[in-house]
Amino acid sequence: MRVPARWLTGGPAVVAGRALLLVSGTLVALTAWLLSPGPTDQLVLAAAGVGALALLGVSSALPWDRWSPRAPLVFPLAVMGALAAVGTGTRDVAGAYVPFFVLCFVYVGVFLPSRTAYGLLPVAVPLYLLSSEGHDSTVVVRTVVTACVWLLVAELLAQLAQRQRAAADVLVRDARTDPLTTIGNRRDLEDRMTRLRPGDTVVVCDLDHFKQLNDSRGHAFGDQVLREFGAVLAAGLRRDDYAARFGGEEFVLLLHGSGTAAAVDVVERLRQTWCEAGGATTFSAGCATLDDVTSAERALVAADAALYAAKRDGRDRTRSAEAADGWGPRVGADSVRDLSHEF
Ligand code: GH3
Ligand code: MG
Ligand code: MG
Repeated sequence: MRVPARWLTGGPAVVAGRALLLVSGTLVALTAWLLSPGPTDQLVLAAAGVGALALLGVSSALPWDRWSPRAPLVFPLAVMGALAAVGTGTRDVAGAYVPFFVLCFVYVGVFLPSRTAYGLLPVAVPLYLLSSEGHDSTVVVRTVVTACVWLLVAELLAQLAQRQRAAADVLVRDARTDPLTTIGNRRDLEDRMTRLRPGDTVVVCDLDHFKQLNDSRGHAFGDQVLREFGAVLAAGLRRDDYAARFGGEEFVLLLHGSGTAAAVDVVERLRQTWCEAGGATTFSAGCATLDDVTSAERALVAADAALYAAKRDGRDRTRSAEAADGWGPRVGADSVRDLSHEF
């Protein structure tokens, strides 16, 4: 069975909220007949079911992303409100569905910000009392114990969910970061390249005679030079521009909306900063700007060709694809050269 796409909108908390509403409503509908409710009870159950379905329908049209992350609290509130309505409007059915309150607090713990459960409690307790039957002498103790269990369940789950999110964030960051220079890695670069638009410029920078540097001063020194070069790139770019280590001693910059002339200026400014910082070796660069018929992959190949023109012309300089005739014949993306052999 395919879930309608509009039910999957609004983010995980909203989708899970819809599931909470649907599961609670379905379970009540499937089991109510076992309790043989009378006609009035059936009417109340039907009204609660229709209300839940209406909220499901409305929820797909709401702008959840513009609202507070606590906005999906409306789902457990709707479930608890419906349970309270069933509790007050029926005789034989009331009390049977009280365990759904725990499910609501589980939802709050897993999907909503921590401590949301404390705010829900003052509303949940009266709704719980309305939905349960037989308020005997144990009602106060029962309610206090129940409320404490709800809070504990929700807060424990909130702590677990927070840890899991933090661990996932670290994994995502590590998967996209070059460990040596701490700027983006090739995977992150490839992802960002898919978002380039006409007018954006791709720059490939390559440290000159880096092998000689490694051979004469050692690999650890070479690593330090790579770190320093990465830091100069990261510090020298505008906020929405981007630098990644493509591999080895090769780096790629994505300059948004700059056009070739401004991109060359940016690279020359970086060259000056690198020189003033005492960079152990120079670097060469090639750049290419996307246009309506040029994909990001093709711009990368053209920038790489321009880089090699800069190397041929004596290194320590920047060449654009236009000046270096680096575009070559206009070919399809499938003929894009894999640059990984360069490293
Ligand atoms: P060119 O000016 O033509 O670019 O010459 P080059 O020596 O810089 O280029 P080449 O491709 O011959 O050598 C690149 C060197 O970069 C070889 C490799 O050992 C070194 N290298 C690649 N990755 C790393 C790294 O992570 N750390 C260090 N220290 N060296 C690396
Ligand atoms: Mg090199
Ligand atoms: Mg190289």
